[in-house]
Amino acid sequence: MPLTLASAPEADGAPAGEILIPGVKGRARRPVAKPPRHLADLPMAGRRAAVAELGQPAFRASQLSRHFFGRYTDQADEMSDLPRDARDPLAQALLPRLLTAERELACDGGTTRKTLWRTLDGALVESVLMRYPDRVTMCVSSQAGCGMACPFCATGQAGLTRNLSTGEIVAQVVAGARLLADGEVPGVTSRGDRGGSSPQANTARVSNVVFMGMGEPLANYANVLGAVRRLTDPVPDGMGISQRSVTVSTVGLVPAIARLAAERLSVTLAVSLHAPDDELRDTLVPVNRRWKVSEVLDAAWSYAAATGRRISIEYALIKDVNDQAWRADRLGSLLAGKLVHVNLIPLNPTPGSQWTASRPADQREFVRRLEAHGVPVTVRDTRGREIDGACGQLAASAR
Ligand code: SAH
Repeated sequence: MPLTLASAPEADGAPAGEILIPGVKGRARRPVAKPPRHLADLPMAGRRAAVAELGQPAFRASQLSRHFFGRYTDQADEMSDLPRDARDPLAQALLPRLLTAERELACDGGTTRKTLWRTLDGALVESVLMRYPDRVTMCVSSQAGCGMACPFCATGQAGLTRNLSTGEIVAQVVAGARLLADGEVPGVTSRGDRGGSSPQANTARVSNVVFMGMGEPLANYANVLGAVRRLTDPVPDGMGISQRSVTVSTVGLVPAIARLAAERLSVTLAVSLHAPDDELRDTLVPVNRRWKVSEVLDAAWSYAAATGRRISIEYALIKDVNDQAWRADRLGSLLAGKLVHVNLIPLNPTPGSQWTASRPADQREFVRRLEAHGVPVTVRDTRGREIDGACGQLAASAR
């Protein structure tokens, strides 16, 4: 699919599709050890306490929260329900701007938007917004970099920089919600058609969030759980997205999967399996040397039993590495009869890698064999590929 520009023509030297954000590059960056406190880091009781510390009545916490989670703004001058002299101190104390857009890329007629964010201490993270006719999905990062070292993943190559705070995770979704509310993402009426000529018809809400950007969400458990709560609690506590529409994707950190099951949330768990046998998975997902395929799947089935949610198995199809018919059969027999769905992802090759996506015939045979075991399977669409949509590739190219 050709890359199309979503907005203004690029400045000199910018790659096609890149939108330069004026005033961002070259700005002095103050190194900070930890991101400053943001209201999204705190449950409502903590926000009320923070507001009271500023000498304001506690109900201002709910007013500020409505601005951020319901109207997607952190701008003091837009908060006309707050007394004029209280706006700036409250916004400065509880709504610091945690992320600055460094680059924005668009494709699919503007319905796929990828943002490269810079944190206050200079780390780069990515989020992607994908608008479909019936939903809007945001793919968010949970860490700057990743420590899991999966050799086919761009983020895995660079190692872990640090965990993102709850506020930094939530800010990615709020930014997408703001773009949608402002009518800046064209609607899609049916496959490939752009619709919504009036700005009114063009607005939409973020309906789904997937933790499939940079990082291993379950290695940043507390902050990710805080983000899940902020995303799914109703306004003003949070954004009011359905728990069922949130997916946490993991390499398979078994104790953390058990912990998540005990939270009794209705979020979907995705397990990045990529191989049905330990020998291959030890190399593709190195943490498999600690928790084997059988342990990871047992944890997943316990999660399904505790939550009633279908497990999503992620499997990147890599030509002649993990796409053999016998591996499809092995996977099919591991998953047959379980509450599960397999998501096959054609490998998006990272720069310099010798690996590539499977041949179409091998991919079809893989699907056929899983289906023969009665296992539901889909092949993921590859939206955003031309804007380095997969996992860390934009950040890698910016370094
Ligand atoms: N660390 C988490 C979430 C981030 S990655 C996890 O591993 O689940 C989201 C998904 O994209 C994972 O299934 C990951 O294995 C997959 N992925 C990473 N790099 C990829 C690539 N180059 N091509 C296809 N899928 C990739």
